[in-house]
Amino acid sequence: MATLFIADLHLDPSRAQITQLFESYLASAEVRHAEALYILGDLVEAWIGDDDDAELPQHIADATRAVRAAGVPVYFMVGNRDFLLGEAFAARAGMTLLDDGIVHDIHGRPTLLMHGDVLCTDDIAYQAVRRQVRTPEWQAHILSLPLAARRAFAAKARHDSKAHTGSTMESIMDVNAEAVAATMRSAGVTRLIHGHTHRPAVHAFELDGKPAERIVLGDWYEHGSVLRVDGDVVELRGLALDRI
Ligand code: MN
Repeated sequence: MATLFIADLHLDPSRAQITQLFESYLASAEVRHAEALYILGDLVEAWIGDDDDAELPQHIADATRAVRAAGVPVYFMVGNRDFLLGEAFAARAGMTLLDDGIVHDIHGRPTLLMHGDVLCTDDIAYQAVRRQVRTPEWQAHILSLPLAARRAFAAKARHDSKAHTGSTMESIMDVNAEAVAATMRSAGVTRLIHGHTHRPAVHAFELDGKPAERIVLGDWYEHGSVLRVDGDVVELRGLALDRI
């Protein structure tokens, strides 16, 4: 049975087709017969708290809970857009939360799982923001605000993020090769799976003389993207919108 990985769907009410593609994929035989489904961050464009009463979180919870009910574990790791997603929503959605940087045995191979943003060490400005927003104090403050204030804050954060992405060199926003090597070495793995950069690829390289792999998941902007690992088979493929 295959183990499936997705990330960077950036689900948002403004892109209903992608939400439908996510729902139809989670209802597909491939997912319902999988060994497990991993969602490695940025499932949504913005997450303002588990108490959000909007429709999208409910649709997501319905879709993932049905996968779990079919006997398929659903694992979720937060990304830089949905890092406020917590245990309350995970329980409602039938998902098990994973820490960024956890190692899971995937088909007999220890595999390091990350969202990927911590590997982009050349982006100093982003890493400074990340340190701030990941503190319990900052998160407690944001979550204490009324939903309307949090929605306004999320809109501003998206605007600032777009401005930063638009004005920062592509190479700075990719992973740093030394950070990748050091992180894999300390985790004791030769395979890493992550998202975040929206540059889907299977990179083969040498780590301390051993063959190693860094698999990058694709985003769901123009179409879907799925990584399927089944025994020795590693397949990264797109999901066309017309499969809805
Ligand atoms: Mn991301």
